[in-house]
Amino acid sequence: MGQSAKAVVARELGKPVVVERIDVEAPRHGEVTIRLAACGVCHSDLSATNGTIPYPMPLVLGHEGAGVVIAVGDGVSRYAIGDHVVSSFVSMCGRCHYCQTGRPQLCVQSLQALYTLPDGTVRTRDSTGLPLNVFCGCGVMAEVATVHTDNLVKIDRQMPLDRAALIGCGVMTGVGAVVNTARVEAGSVAVVFGCGGVGLNAVQGCAIAGAGMIVAVDTSDPKLDLAKQFGATHTFNVSGHENVGKALYKLTGGGADYAFDCVGLGKVSEQAWGVLRRGGTAVIVGIAGPKDQITLNAQQVALSEKTLTGSYYGSARPAQDFPRLIGLYRGGRLKLDELITRTYSIDQAPQAFADLTQGGEGRGVIIFDAA
Ligand SMILES: [Zn+2]
Ligand SMILES: [Zn+2]
Repeated sequence: MGQSAKAVVARELGKPVVVERIDVEAPRHGEVTIRLAACGVCHSDLSATNGTIPYPMPLVLGHEGAGVVIAVGDGVSRYAIGDHVVSSFVSMCGRCHYCQTGRPQLCVQSLQALYTLPDGTVRTRDSTGLPLNVFCGCGVMAEVATVHTDNLVKIDRQMPLDRAALIGCGVMTGVGAVVNTARVEAGSVAVVFGCGGVGLNAVQGCAIAGAGMIVAVDTSDPKLDLAKQFGATHTFNVSGHENVGKALYKLTGGGADYAFDCVGLGKVSEQAWGVLRRGGTAVIVGIAGPKDQITLNAQQVALSEKTLTGSYYGSARPAQDFPRLIGLYRGGRLKLDELITRTYSIDQAPQAFADLTQGGEGRGVIIFDAA
């Protein structure tokens, strides 16, 4: 039995998102249907609507959702109706080179599930019967979604679903970049560029890892104030600064051990590289536009022994890391309540995207009433 549900759809590049009623088909082999409780509005969703990350339209948005399983397809043994789940925007086949070597965030199946389910088809159609693509195999900015279980992680039913949703992208990406990718050492010096949804989580990841000095960098004072709540020991507003690298080098007393570009701009990645002390590690977390480039001095790369690395999805192993992050939240070590700065009904989704474009701080979350 299919379901009729409201969904947030990107119809035309550069145009506002629309909320429309769609048909969601019943789950096929290996899939489940979930009723969403909450879905975060992520910068990557916005990037899909404006072409920064190229996606074929029409596209059901959403990849940071949590909800309850309401139907189970054939061949699904690990999930039952009533289970609580969080979406993973990487699909984890469990069999490829990357899954088998502990790096499911690079799973090859994800490349086949960029805008469909892993089998290359979708369960979503609009009112005229036209198939609708789904963001990264998820499309969970909808009241109901049919998703492959390779894109889900089961969580404890006691965990509030609106908080849990945030773990599905922003929290995992930011905290993971620090603890999984960079493996920040206690007492070290870290600089985080960009204090949006992901950057705030990189800041709190540094705090959880015990970094001694955490410098939050942004152009917005309200975002920097929020970064302090998440553990930044210092803040730096780049607006009006001629030489950001020099100023940060001075502030950190000779350079940082770790720097994180959570903006996703080649220019910012270069600043992250530039602020490192010798032997330091710069991590590119934000997703830059497809033509953006980075220029480094080749000689200095060798002489300085610095490392430049990417971090995709916080080098997540979702099945292990989501429960760990929930454990940190329950232990009072991971801030999720404070991350949710605005909530919206699904009908208010266009406003949520407008607010994100304006650069509102923290995370906006769509709360669905039916769950
Ligand atoms: Zn995201
Ligand atoms: Zn795989």
